[in-house]
This record gives sequence, structure tokens and C-alpha cells, in this order.
Amino acid sequence: MRSRILFLISLLLPSLSLGAGDWCYDFISPNCGPSAWPAQHPQCGGSSQSPIDIITKKATPDPKLSDIIFKGYMDPDESFDWTLVNNGHSVKLVLNGSITISGGKLGSTYKADNLHFHWGTTSAPGGEHTINGVQYPMEMHLVHWNQNYRDMTEALKHPDGLAVLAVMFVESSEGDAKDLDLIQYLKHIKNEGDKYKIKPFTLENIIPSESSKSKEYYRYQGSLTTPTCNEAVIWTVYKEPIPLSKDQLNAFPKTLHYNESQHIISNFRPIQKLNGRTVYVFNSGSLLFRLNLLMCIIGIRAFLLFN
Ligand SMILES: [Zn+2]
Repeated sequence: MRSRILFLISLLLPSLSLGAGDWCYDFISPNCGPSAWPAQHPQCGGSSQSPIDIITKKATPDPKLSDIIFKGYMDPDESFDWTLVNNGHSVKLVLNGSITISGGKLGSTYKADNLHFHWGTTSAPGGEHTINGVQYPMEMHLVHWNQNYRDMTEALKHPDGLAVLAVMFVESSEGDAKDLDLIQYLKHIKNEGDKYKIKPFTLENIIPSESSKSKEYYRYQGSLTTPTCNEAVIWTVYKEPIPLSKDQLNAFPKTLHYNESQHIISNFRPIQKLNGRTVYVFNSGSLLFRLNLLMCIIGIRAFLLFN
């Protein structure tokens, strides 16, 4: 009897030692890594999964797409605290207060829930979406849920439940690195389960709304990139990466731990099949160009007609 109990305990131990849940990335073990997710989480084997490779030449311009309107990101309500969490898979900043996005053909207002990051190692990239096959060093996801639904759990059941904005980071080569303020707090959440409360700070440095160039984005219908992989996400992937210094980028794999001996590294899901989905592009510059071209043609026609 005793040996049977010990045997049962030994069966349980590997899953208990996973700590952060019943799934992992390959740096822990391929047995619970991305290729093993669909067995436990059937939605991860679905046909509209994320991330994807975005082939810019094949993206379809959609004239109905427009700028995303950000509210509360630049001047967050300081009567709330934000919480920085090491959940063993990533670092997540839980955004309390009324921060919303709308516009951009989203159809309704979406409330911010959290932002988190996907990174590689100090020598290999770790972004999730690739653009023309290129993987960026790090990718940030700003997760919002549709205010037409009761809560996040309800929103996850609908294809328009979540709006996630993806922002890429690139290593600065010209000393033009931005400040990513939250990096200074990573030392307080070194271990899995650690939490640290911080006062809200402006996120204008990392929100792509400063210039028209940085507002260009790709849009497609996809899923969460972690189990349970719900196909409930309207993705907006910004084209222009934000430059960070090498030290800022390395702070993630160097500081954050999964356990005492293991750093959190390469916490990205490999790209998924497009399966016939359309990737749309919003490019305010090209829209302006097309408008100018149209005006030119009309001008020339009118000139020819009246002369
Ligand atoms: Zn993510």
C-alpha cells in the first residue's frame, strides 16, 4: 500500500514541479512545451491560431481600418495601483483603472487588462509574430477585453472578445533607445509568484501613437498564444519596432527566474499556420499617397477635358 502511494506521488511530482500550471515552454521540457499543448488544451490545435508570420507583400489594404484611439495610457489614473507579476511564464503588468482602446475597426470599446512580454535569451530573439520571417528580440502584448461582455471569461468565448496589440522591440543601434520604465522594477519580482505594486506611470513611450509612421499596423483574427489558446483575439500587430538598449532587452532573461536555477528564457510560441486567413494592413501613409494619386489623375483628366 505504502509503495503504491509513493508511486502515485512520484507520478504527481513532475506536474507539481511545473509550478506555473500544466503547460510550459521548451526551456522547461518539450513534454509540456508548445507542441504538447493541444493534447491538454484542444483549442491550441485549432485552425486560427497565433502567432503567425506576417508577409507584408501579401497583406490586404483595408480602407476601413483607422487609428486606434488610446484612452488613459498617457495619463493613467493614479488612484489605482498596478501590479507587476512573475507568473513563471512571463512578466505581467496588471493595469487597473479605466484604460481603454477603441476605433481601428474594433467595433466597440475594449478595456485594458494587462501587458506582458515574450523574449528570447541574451543571444537569441524571442518575439512571437514574425514579419517576413524575421523574429524581433522581444514582443509586448497589450491585452484588452470587449466591454460588450460581462467579464474576461465571457469575452474569451467570442471571436471579438479580446483585442491584443502587439508591439515589437528592436536593439537600438543609433543611441535612440526609449525608456521602458518598468524594467527598474523587475528586480522585485525575480521569482515565480512574486508580485510588486507600483504607481501607474505613463506608457506613452511604448504606445505607437507618437507619429503617423508608428501607427501602421497589421490586423488579423487569431488566438491567445498561451493555453488555453482561445480563438477570441482581434490582433493588431504594429509594424514599427521600438528601440531599446541591449541592457534593457537583456534585463528580462537575466533577472526573471522560473525557479532557483532556471531563468525564464525563450517564452514564445512558434508561428502557426495561416490556414487561409487574411492579414489586413493599415497604412495611413499609403492611403494618403493613393488619395494624392487619385487627385492627380482627376486633375489631369479635367485639364485634358477642358483644353
Ligand atoms: Zn502574449
